[in-house]
Amino acid sequence: MIVAKQKDLEVIVGMLQGYERILVLGCGTCTAICLTGGDREVGILASSLRLADKVSGKNRLLKEHTVERQCEWEFLDEINDQVKEVDAILSLGCGVGVQAISERFPDIPVLPGLDTLFMGMPQEESVWVERCSGCGNCILDKTAGICPVTRCTKGLLNGPCGGTNNGKCEVDPEKDCAWTLIYQRLEKQGKLELFDEYHPPRNFQAVVRPGRFTIK
Ligand code: SF4
Ligand code: SF4
Repeated sequence: MIVAKQKDLEVIVGMLQGYERILVLGCGTCTAICLTGGDREVGILASSLRLADKVSGKNRLLKEHTVERQCEWEFLDEINDQVKEVDAILSLGCGVGVQAISERFPDIPVLPGLDTLFMGMPQEESVWVERCSGCGNCILDKTAGICPVTRCTKGLLNGPCGGTNNGKCEVDPEKDCAWTLIYQRLEKQGKLELFDEYHPPRNFQAVVRPGRFTIK
């Protein structure tokens, strides 16, 4: 899933200056799961914006809606009519969602209410962790299912840097050293021979940005 956090309210208020009719649009998929852009957060943010408007003597139209997924046009059809009634959309989807809406409705400004952080997974309550950088050349079969591109702070592909300290990363002692985790899991799986396997430098041509994928 894509993990994103909400921008500060004052940043959003500043972004919305000059717009009188605004649709606050949530996404029912990733950002709903990470509790930053679902129906509930749309309601809370719209209420906060109304309160801010009241304090500053404004009386703007703030509509609320949540689609199942912002990143697919077919889920955006249901807002066709609402879009005609507003002069800006405040998206609580990820950056892909914002761009999908912008491409679908190019005549209207679509503003990001969230900062998109990474692709990850929930680890414990209210904590999400990054797991994949979309490198286009997955080597998880060689690294016991632990991604060194993403989870090693230096993105090293051939073992630890030498700064590992008691299994923690020298760059950020709060984080586990990815290569220690890889070693430990390979050992547990009886596959330590994989640790000696050489990985060529990352092929940045594997995904030339912007990426495009076609089923042949
Ligand atoms: S090796 Fe590449 S594709 Fe595989 S998890 Fe890591 S970043 Fe993602
Ligand atoms: S200590 Fe481990 S995770 Fe940190 S940079 Fe070195 S090899 Fe990577």
